[in-house]
Formats: sequence, structure tokens, C-alpha cells
Amino acid sequence: MIHIANKANCCGCSACVQRCPQHCITLHEDTEGFLYPEVNMEACVDCGLCEKVCPWTGRSDALQPLQTLAVRNPKEEERLASSSGGVFVALAHSVIEKGGVVFGAVFDEQWEVKHTYAEKMEGIRPMMGCKYLQSRIGNCYLEAEKFLRQGREVLFTGTPCQIAGLHRFLQKDYPNLLSADFLCHGVPSPGIWRKYLDETLGRNRGKAPLLSKALFPFLKRTPPITGINFRDKRIYGWKNYCFTVYGQSASGSQRKANVVSMIHGKNTFMRGFLYDIYLRPSCYRCKCKNGVSHSDLTLADYWGINELMPDFDDDKGVSLLLLNTRKGLEVFQSLHMEARPSNLDDARQFNGGFKEEIEISSRRETFYQLIGNGWGVINAVEKCLNDPMYKRLIRRMIRKIETIRRHLST
Ligand SMILES: Cc1cc2nc3c(=O)[nH]c(=O)nc-3n(C[C@H](O)[C@H](O)[C@H](O)COP(=O)(O)OP(=O)(O)OC[C@H]3O[C@@H](n4cnc5c(N)ncnc54)[C@H](O)[C@@H]3O)c2cc1C
Ligand code: SF4
Ligand code: SF4
Ligand code: SF4
Repeated sequence: MIHIANKANCCGCSACVQRCPQHCITLHEDTEGFLYPEVNMEACVDCGLCEKVCPWTGRSDALQPLQTLAVRNPKEEERLASSSGGVFVALAHSVIEKGGVVFGAVFDEQWEVKHTYAEKMEGIRPMMGCKYLQSRIGNCYLEAEKFLRQGREVLFTGTPCQIAGLHRFLQKDYPNLLSADFLCHGVPSPGIWRKYLDETLGRNRGKAPLLSKALFPFLKRTPPITGINFRDKRIYGWKNYCFTVYGQSASGSQRKANVVSMIHGKNTFMRGFLYDIYLRPSCYRCKCKNGVSHSDLTLADYWGINELMPDFDDDKGVSLLLLNTRKGLEVFQSLHMEARPSNLDDARQFNGGFKEEIEISSRRETFYQLIGNGWGVINAVEKCLNDPMYKRLIRRMIRKIETIRRHLST
């Protein structure tokens, strides 16, 4: 049975949890805010199924993309509401039109992120746009399997490890399954996001957190959140995207008002994410990227398009699209998107999402130590990012010496 001796070896896809015939694996949140499986040994019958479906213990061969494209959704409204060029919503349309089911990530009522499915276009809107934290898969693999067995078309979208987990969970190729992952920088901790929300917006639990007191001194508490957009392009464009939180207007009407809106580089949660301070441990040595997940399509931002094809860039979002299988290619050809052929190596140099290994920043350890000592997220991130260079170098050297010592002693 699975045993997580090293947390870097579990991406939290929950394939094991959903496949266990004894229902004896449950997920528990650790002190860093990520979910890990735990086995109830008394109920386990040692059937080995959990190991068989784990994308981390059994790695698949990588697929090479058949085509690389720069893509824009011709419907401007859809493109503006998407993080990149709006490929996801076009794929979703085509599946829903055929009576199919689409799986993707949405905010839940606590503004955390979970996977769910939609059978109508109304359910697709909440899936649009990146949510920069790990989504909980719940029972979505089981639900997808049920729809596939009924013969319905299924589009399943998620991180490369979630798609790898799905394929290993199913253990069979379904002609009616279309899977799409994206280039993945890594997923931030849901526990840290929860803490950040509590700290900044109080999540309407009647508290008046420090930041909201400063922003809304005339209010007893922050207005109820009505929307969160990690990739708001409507203010400064796609490249200078903003982190925006919407709330009820101060008069209490349901009309949307911006509670927070700032360029991503100025928002503390986004800074902590982009400096890799609270990614899941598995993200620093990812085993599911670059074709390993066996997704039919890989979606991404086409960073660098302004240099490679400036006449195709209007700063409203361009997708980099990798068509990995014949099925992906055929579905894409039916979509009527604006597309230009592109070169994978050209695109690769502009996008960190291709990297399978990233350095575990010494700031990560410091950050979690500070959080453990009762610091808030904002102060802890700012402290880590504003440390003088010499302190960071010393910490890095200590970590290197520790790693060498560990290697020598094993
Ligand atoms: C955590 C994360 C890291 C990313 N890192 C990179 C990167 O390094 N480089 C890059 O080019 N692109 C990255 N992307 C993907 C990219 O920004 C776009 O989401 C993708 O190109 C699709 O854009 P779109 O315009 O077609 O559709 P959109 O409407 O923007 O895409 C929404 C799709 O993303 C899925 N999704 C959203 N949030 C999550 C989540 N938390 N977990 C699982 N699925 C989710 C939805 O289910 C839906 O399928 C990342 C996305 C996420 C969520
Ligand atoms: S070995 Fe079988 S019964 Fe035991 S935890 Fe794994 S899947 Fe469940
Ligand atoms: S990677 Fe997925 S299947 Fe493997 S142990 Fe972790 S949650 Fe279970
Ligand atoms: S970087 Fe890898 S392990 Fe981390 S979320 Fe993305 S696909 Fe999963």
C-alpha cells in the first residue's frame, strides 16, 4: 500500500483515495496546508491498487506534441474572461453541445478551490480563469468514470499531475475522453491561501482584519466577496494582469465593486507564489509535465508572443497550444479558432511552466518557520522577500552543506 515517506513523492491527486476498494484512504491537511493520503491499516487488505494508480510510483512515457500553435479565441468577450487565449471555453462549448460533461476547477463557498463538473454552459463560467492554488479533486475521477462508461463525452481539465492521476486511475483508454492539462508553474498551498484570505478580507466571518480596517475604516467588516480573479486583464492588459477581488458595493447592493485590485507583482500572495515560497513539495521535482500526463492537449500562456509574432499580440491574451494526440488535433480543428503554427523550442524559452525542476528556495523554510511562530502571511512573505542578499546567501550555503552531509551519511 502507499506510504508517503517523502512528501515530494505525492502530488495529492487522490487517485489512490478514489480507487481503494476498502475506502480506507483519507486525505489530511499537513502544517504546510497541503492534503496527503493516510491509510487505515486495520481496513487495508493489501491489494496494491493504490500503488498501481499512483502517477508518482508508475511514470508513463512522455508524448511528443504533434503540433504547436499560437491561438486566440475569436470571441473577444470569452478571451477577456479567460487567463490566456480562451481555448478552454471553446473546448467546453464543443463538448457541452454534444451532450457531454466538462470537469474543471471552481471556487467553493469559502473561496477555496475544488474540482467539479458541468453539463451546461452556465457551469463553465466559474471554471474559467486560473485559480492559483491546489484544487481538491474530491470524487471527480469516479464521477468521470461513471459518465465515460455511460458513453458520454467527457472533457477533463486540470494540472498535469491531476491528468496523469486520472489516466492511471482509469487504467484504460476511453475514446469518449478528452483530457487537457496546462503548463504548470506549481500549485500554492490552499492552507496558506485560507490564512491569507482570513488575514486580508476576513472572509465575512464577522471579523474585521487589519487590512480591511485600513481599507474600509467606515465599515465594521469587509463587504462579502462576490468574485476573485487571479488574472484580471481588463485593467492593464494580459501581460500586466491584476489580482482582483470583487465585493458587494458599500450600499449593500449585489453590484460588483473592486475590493482589491493590483498588478500581480504588487500583490503579496502572488509574489509568494511566483517566488516559489509555498508550492507543494512535489512541484519542485515534477514528474508529470511535458507529455507525461498523456493529456490530449496542453494549454498555456504564449509568453514571448510579442517578440515572436508581434502582429498576433493585442495584449488581450494568446494561448500556446500543444496538440499531443490525434484526438486533440481533430477536436481542435473543429473549433474555428484563430491559429498560427509555432515552434516549440521558441516558445519554451519564454515559459517557466516547462521546467520540471526548480530550486527549493531557502525562503520556503524561513516562511514556514515564521508561520509556525505565529506570523501572518503578508508579514512572512514580505520578510522573506526583503531579506538582504548576504542573509539569503548564508542560508543557501547552510542548506547546501546540509544536503551534502545527508548524501554522505546515506
Ligand atoms: C496553478 C496554475 C499554474 C499555471 N502555470 C502556468 C505556467 O507556468 N505557464 C503557462 O503558460 N500557463 C500556466 N498556467 C495555465 C494558464 O495560465 C491558463 O490557465 C491556461 O493557458 C488556460 O487558459 P485559457 O485561456 O485557455 O482558459 P482559462 O479559462 O483561463 O482556463 C481555465 C482552465 O484552468 C483550469 N484551472 C484553473 N485553476 C485551476 C487549478 N487551481 N487547478 C486545476 N485546474 C485549474 C480550469 O479547470 C479550466 O480548465 C497555470 C495555471 C494554473 C491554474
Ligand atoms: S492496498 Fe488496497 S486496500 Fe490497502 S490502502 Fe491500498 S488500495 Fe486500499
Ligand atoms: S500522488 Fe496521488 S495517488 Fe499517489 S499517493 Fe499521492 S494522492 Fe495518492
Ligand atoms: S508542478 Fe507538477 S506536481 Fe506541481 S501541480 Fe503542477 S503538475 Fe502537479
